[in-house]
Amino acid sequence: MDRITRVRKKMQQASLDAVLFYKPENLFYLSGFTGTTGYVLITPSDKYFLTDFRYFSQVKEQAPEFELVPLDYAHPVRSRIEELTRGILGFEEEHMIVEMYDELKETYEGELQPMRRFIEELRMMKDEQELITMQKAQDIADETYMEILEIVSAGMTEEDLAQEIYLRMRRKGASRNSFETIVASGVRGALPHGVASGKVMQRGELVTIDFGCVYEGYCSDMTRTFALGRADDHQREIYNIVLEAQLAAMEVIKPGVSTQVVDKTARDIIAGYGYAENFGHGLGHAVGLEIHENPRFSPLCDVPLKVGMVMTNEPGIYIDDFGGVRIEDTVVVTEDGYRNLTHSPKELIEV
Ligand code: ZN
Ligand code: ZN
Repeated sequence: MDRITRVRKKMQQASLDAVLFYKPENLFYLSGFTGTTGYVLITPSDKYFLTDFRYFSQVKEQAPEFELVPLDYAHPVRSRIEELTRGILGFEEEHMIVEMYDELKETYEGELQPMRRFIEELRMMKDEQELITMQKAQDIADETYMEILEIVSAGMTEEDLAQEIYLRMRRKGASRNSFETIVASGVRGALPHGVASGKVMQRGELVTIDFGCVYEGYCSDMTRTFALGRADDHQREIYNIVLEAQLAAMEVIKPGVSTQVVDKTARDIIAGYGYAENFGHGLGHAVGLEIHENPRFSPLCDVPLKVGMVMTNEPGIYIDDFGGVRIEDTVVVTEDGYRNLTHSPKELIEV
């Protein structure tokens, strides 16, 4: 079933006469449009792309199956909607701003119906083409990691390393970082979101790098922790606990299993070694057009896994004045379990 057909089926189930979308990732998902401003309006018989003159040629090129409806001062979106549809109109409640809602409410003769995660729910299960693209995005990150291990050395700053990661991913075809690269060395490793700083990396430190790129709209996300020089016994011990937790969580990933159970599997192992307090974030998140999507591997999220969901598995241990370890892979849920998109080695590497 193509995406528009799936939207219409959902519309029918929700008794909607038309649906309006404007979140950029959802416009891309439905139409292929990569610009930032526009609206997709879908009715049972038609599909429209509403935008202003800046994007006319882009819509014609990227979304040729949509009827282009021009917006301008005399024809703002509310008046176009009035012309194109009637009845119950669904809109994305998480993304509509109050000003636009008020305007629509004033002029629209039908009923406005807020919708929650309408497209995001469809986006949870990635199709074959999306998985091919996501694998490519991850391959770029994996290749970059292997190169980074060759060039990293004590004396470089975290920012130097982040810059190397960025340039290498761009050269391999990525359009940008999928989020701000984290390079957390030594005691800074205790910060789960320690973006690269001017700190000089030293021998004997663990270095955690968490990074990814965007390739053809899709994000990759991976984390590795390595040692600069020889790791000591404590560093090795912490590393092995995180790795054990990550591998154990992998083994329970399959369709039907609750996201909560996957989180708990890793969390129980870390707690069993006495580090419950040192793992303060969820085990992972879905990823796709956005870096953080639903569902989550978290004590607070109870969603059964489905084939095609793409999830990260990223346990960590963070200890003040010591540092931290995190290991993150991205996997896709398959009929009989999972397939790991991340291929970088996971044993503790000493460089
Ligand atoms: Zn990450
Ligand atoms: Zn992540």
